[in-house]
Amino acid sequence: MPITADFHLHSSFSGDSDTPMEEMILRGIELGLTQMCFTEHNDLDYPAGEDGPSDIFELNADAYLYELLKLREKYADRIEILFGVELGLQPHLTRQNAAFVKEHDYDFVIASSHVCHGQDPYYPSFYEGRAQEAAYREYFESILENLRSYSNFDVYGHLDYVVRYGPDRDEGYSYEVYRDIFDKILHRLIDIEKGIELNTAGLAKGLREPNPCIGVLKRYRELGGEIVTIGSDAHRPAQIAYAFDRAAEILKDCGFRYYATFAKRSPSFHKL
Ligand SMILES: [Zn+2]
Ligand SMILES: [Zn+2]
Repeated sequence: MPITADFHLHSSFSGDSDTPMEEMILRGIELGLTQMCFTEHNDLDYPAGEDGPSDIFELNADAYLYELLKLREKYADRIEILFGVELGLQPHLTRQNAAFVKEHDYDFVIASSHVCHGQDPYYPSFYEGRAQEAAYREYFESILENLRSYSNFDVYGHLDYVVRYGPDRDEGYSYEVYRDIFDKILHRLIDIEKGIELNTAGLAKGLREPNPCIGVLKRYRELGGEIVTIGSDAHRPAQIAYAFDRAAEILKDCGFRYYATFAKRSPSFHKL
């Protein structure tokens, strides 16, 4: 396995997982991983809905860190465990998110868009009464809005998360259709020296390509981007390191020679 670091993982500290962190770690060891970075959700001001109240994705970072340090030590001779967070951005949360990140010494911060103008595109209501393309466009525009006001993160997570949930999912979807917006997003990320991730959860859900799609990964490289982390976005042990062999092939085909990992917010590069 060329990629031995999974940099997008959840456990029971995330509102949508009930897997004990130790179970995740044991599976990672079994798979031969050398590094696992937990990136528990912190999504402030998440819209209350059928799945729970608006604080469902508010992270108890102290409890999370306590457990992680305990397990880091317990398994120190078998695997390196890193302390990350998946931070849900929304333009009005800039100050709160900045304060949240400063409260602890994270190894790695993923910025993600799970909420677009008050709605999670996970739910069908986001697409009601309009063409899928219009909904996807609104989602990508909202990433640009976030990038105008917030920059304390290391990589932007699953840039085309929305494609997992639209009525026709990745049918008719490509980098080219949204080139104008993607180029603005990618230029901005490169200007502020941030990375992106290759997230394999979409592949596990039956999409043809990872998130973001190959066209976006290729374009990031063409424009000079070099920082790509790999994450399964696993919420259960069975999903850890899903399709990492394919991820390595895709990255090489896109012109990358290295993938990135982070510790104490600093990247290291590893040959693919
Ligand atoms: Zn996410
Ligand atoms: Zn995630």
